[in-house]
Amino acid sequence: MAAGAAAAAAILLPLMNRRQIYRLRAPASGREALAAVEPGTVYVDRETGEEMRPVTRTLPLAPSESALLRVPENLRACRRCDQLIGLDVSDCPYCGLRQPALDGGS
Ligand SMILES: [Zn+2]
Repeated sequence: MAAGAAAAAAILLPLMNRRQIYRLRAPASGREALAAVEPGTVYVDRETGEEMRPVTRTLPLAPSESALLRVPENLRACRRCDQLIGLDVSDCPYCGLRQPALDGGS
C-alpha cells in the first residue's frame, strides 16, 4: 500500500461504523440505553442496578461505510408518495402508508 493510501485510510476510518450498536433494555423498569455490546459482558443500569439486555440492533448495521443513520443504503422510497424514508420506520412519515416488512437480512 502506498503511503498516500495509508494516510487516506487513517483519515476515513473514524467515519466508518465498525461496531454494532444495540438498544439495551432493563426488563422490570423498561429503562433503555444504547451501547456497543461486547459478548460475555453484563450491562447494568446505573440508576436501578438492573441487568440490561440487548433487544435490537440500531441502524446503520455494522460494518458499514458510514456511521450516519440516513445514508442511501438505509433509505427506501415510499411506494405511494415517493419520499425517501428510513428502512427502520413502519409507517411513512409523509403520507402514513404502512411499509412492507423487510426480509430481515442485512
Ligand atoms: Zn409515503
